Amino acid sequence: MADRNLTRPDELSQGLSFYRSPEGELFCEDIPLRDLARRFGTPLYVYSRAGIAERLEAYEKAFGEEPHQVCYAVKAASTRGILELVARQGAGFDCVSGGEILRALEAGGDPKKVVFSGVGKSVADIAFALRAGIKCFNIESPAELDRIHAVTERLGIEAHVSVRVNPNIDAHVDAHVATGLGDSKFGVKLTEVIPLYEKAAKLPMIRIEGISCHIGSQVESAEPYLRMVTVLAGFVNELARRGIVLHHIDLGGGAGVAYHPDEKPLEPSELIPALIKAVRREVSVPDIEIFVEPGRSVIAQAAVLLTTVQYLKSGLFERQFAIVDASMTELVRPAIYGSYHLIEPVVPNPKAQRQILNIVGPVCESTDFLGNDRNLAIEAGDLLAIRTAGAYGMAMASTYNSRPLPMEVLVDGSRVIPLRRPQTALDLTRDEETLGLVKNPGMSEEAVRSLFAQSLGMSIE
Ligand code: PLP
Repeated sequence: MADRNLTRPDELSQGLSFYRSPEGELFCEDIPLRDLARRFGTPLYVYSRAGIAERLEAYEKAFGEEPHQVCYAVKAASTRGILELVARQGAGFDCVSGGEILRALEAGGDPKKVVFSGVGKSVADIAFALRAGIKCFNIESPAELDRIHAVTERLGIEAHVSVRVNPNIDAHVDAHVATGLGDSKFGVKLTEVIPLYEKAAKLPMIRIEGISCHIGSQVESAEPYLRMVTVLAGFVNELARRGIVLHHIDLGGGAGVAYHPDEKPLEPSELIPALIKAVRREVSVPDIEIFVEPGRSVIAQAAVLLTTVQYLKSGLFERQFAIVDASMTELVRPAIYGSYHLIEPVVPNPKAQRQILNIVGPVCESTDFLGNDRNLAIEAGDLLAIRTAGAYGMAMASTYNSRPLPMEVLVDGSRVIPLRRPQTALDLTRDEETLGLVKNPGMSEEAVRSLFAQSLGMSIE
């Protein structure tokens, strides 16, 4: 264990979840990342318990005595152990499928703190949410209200609902993660909001709870949020005039994190007081409870993805590549959004020559890259940390190219807790049906599985 008092502050993590020893080695809490790679192999997601706790505490502290509920957006990172940490801290959950509600409740979450968003809620998901007794459905279309009502009548269970408003606000974020523009699929358009509440108010099994909104992810300033509050406040006040009193106003998620050391994201300590002030100033319903649904800003910087350099190679022209063992199947954000993640050696390599490299994975897609034009001194065998990887990392992982899902571990001080069983390609084929069409297989299934198992984990030192 390195003495944390002697460490160099890490540029990207608030607090001490990740830091460098005096020799320049990267640690997660008390554990050298190098040890985790040795023990669990790579690619490997490593989460810091303290990192997650600090961020949730920052939201709680920013709300102070205000009536509020933080509902962690499960989509950002949904492994059960992570959800358990969130539940233990008293937070609720924003879920977008029956499967996410299942995870949240399996992890010990309180159904009375679960909100259910998403444009395509199925009958089965609605039925499960009703039976579980969730806090409320964030309704995303008039047709969805009809479907929820039909399920309530069939089950004889009341539904608590909010309308998710599409405010037609440009949050100045990447188009891929904007959700509040008029032409996006999310939320109910402005002209339909009041009629939808009036209809809901007349339905016998529907209880109106609140109003919700989400404008995008990685929002850099409070200004679009304040415009959103104005839009929502207009509806809350108008509904109150019509005798429909809302109990909460859900401002969604979307606060940003630093993917690059130069980025200065909006902290909960700045954003939340500004939102509280605006809600109290503009909303006529006293003490209306304020909900938020942060995902990225809770979990992103609390994790790294560790990967090992497999080969260095040159392209025909100037381009140099480092081919690593992680890929778009573990972290798809660079491939689909062009997102930047800082990539750094876990242990400095003084022997390696510094050069400009594209860091790419083994997947057969040209778009499979993790970072381009990185100035790094690395060799084959070196361990790299891909930073700020906790949000929309593992949760978006796939098994494309028959690549197993990566392992995830949680570090809590000097304890290391595996969050899932390791998977191999043998697990991927196990549940698939065979048609029995090939009468004389080249190799028996048993033989080929045994050969594969024998070869797993082999290395050349
Ligand atoms: N709530 C809703 C409805 C969302 O769509 C999202 C993300 O898309 C979130 C919360 C979480 O947003 P973020 O991870 O940016 O905080």
